[in-house]
Amino acid sequence: MKVQQVIDGLKRRFPNEPEYIQAVREVLESIEDVYNAHPEFEKYNLIERLCIPDRIFSFRVTWVDDRGNVQTNMGYRVQHNNAIGPYKGGIRFHSSVNLSILKFLAFEQTFKNSLTTLPMGGGKGGSDFNPKGKSDAEIMRFCQAFIMELGKHIGPDTDVPAGDIGVGGREVGYMYGMYKKMACENTGTFTGKGLEFGGSLIRPEATGYGNIYFLMNMLKRKGINDLKDQVIAISGSGNVATYTAQKVLQLGGKVVTLSDSNGYIYDPDGIDEEKLNYVFELKNVYRGRIREYAEKYGCKYVEGGRPWGEKCTIALPSATQNELNGDDAEMLMKNGCIAVSEGANMPSTPEAIEVFLKHKILYAPGKAANAGGVATSGLEMTQNSMRLSWSREEVDQKLQSIMTGIHEACVKYGTEPDGYVNYVKGANIAGFMKVAKAMMAQGIL
Ligand code: NDP
Repeated sequence: MKVQQVIDGLKRRFPNEPEYIQAVREVLESIEDVYNAHPEFEKYNLIERLCIPDRIFSFRVTWVDDRGNVQTNMGYRVQHNNAIGPYKGGIRFHSSVNLSILKFLAFEQTFKNSLTTLPMGGGKGGSDFNPKGKSDAEIMRFCQAFIMELGKHIGPDTDVPAGDIGVGGREVGYMYGMYKKMACENTGTFTGKGLEFGGSLIRPEATGYGNIYFLMNMLKRKGINDLKDQVIAISGSGNVATYTAQKVLQLGGKVVTLSDSNGYIYDPDGIDEEKLNYVFELKNVYRGRIREYAEKYGCKYVEGGRPWGEKCTIALPSATQNELNGDDAEMLMKNGCIAVSEGANMPSTPEAIEVFLKHKILYAPGKAANAGGVATSGLEMTQNSMRLSWSREEVDQKLQSIMTGIHEACVKYGTEPDGYVNYVKGANIAGFMKVAKAMMAQGIL
């Protein structure tokens, strides 16, 4: 396999899908040597079979807004690869959603799910529906209309969706409710469900907590055992960002930034527990903007900006793809940042990753660092199958050991001759090898 040749081929076939090509390139560059050491992979054209999704559904979603207008949106589901288990991955509702973004997410998800060691394949779905400013009734009608189509293609052993940007507990509840009614079954086909109907304790917290567990594994290798002296910049203020901040506070760190798509706040005194509770309420109850934090607590708010120019020792991008570029990365290095651990999927551009690797800082790519979310979704599926619920402590313990396991896999496959751990390489190789072996064993499909 020659990476450039594969990429050129994909570009010819999918010329308008830059995020998908970006994600594929990153993985192929890491696995090239390992792949080429297995001539049987090339013989069975494993690479194209792994890069191109098994299938993609796209459909029109028609719904009625509060004023009685009939609205249409696009809906999609990318079922990328089910070699190691049912397709599994979130649903994103955001005006920017298109096939390139969903294909990159589904591709990444396949390796991430493999890393968790649980039997889950990779998928992703979503819609260009913009939930901002919509009433609760509109959200419900949209979710129901979306599932009327998607519901035909999912199931507990086929494809199990979950949340992502714009899709939290409320949306999962509406979608699962409609699915359950259509399918005449209650087998848990979604994860991230409410606790009353099959959800798992710790699932809402899992992506953020898991990122910090992964970060602590990296720091411990450097002799740093807590976050007491760390100043931490977080982007986003949604599910992942807020629970990341909560775990940082529990471990004694200081969080100085949060953001949304309009701008970021910088609070040099640190976002303490009381302030963070306000953010939870602001985001989940009032569905407000992060600017309101600055108005309430009198700190700096930068409209349209990103937090990476503020001084910090650790950066945790937790909003969206390509939100941290090469210049941002240089600024972080200049300000003494020692670690970057990704809560979001592909938040760092290839130029930013190059800077992190050049400076040999601790850099954890999303497919390793944010795998705690889907891992706990896997645990939710297990509990649903067994018809029982584990305690908070039990799930948290399992999450911690999964994150430690992923860290160990990265160290095993990513340690370079000088001892530096290239977590990008480690995560990609570890994730790839399991999927590749499963595909080889199952024949040409
Ligand atoms: P939420 O919708 O809860 O929060 C997203 C946050 O990011 C919001 O603050 C949002 O601001 C901000 N944001 C979204 N798009 C942009 C943009 N284009 N530019 C700037 N800010 C933006 O989503 P999650 O917290 O669930 O997801 C965040 C990231 O984590 C995503 O990359 C997701 O794929 C990834 N992830 C999530 C998992 C989960 O369990 N939820 C699991 C693994 C990864 P605004 O409100 O203004 O839109």
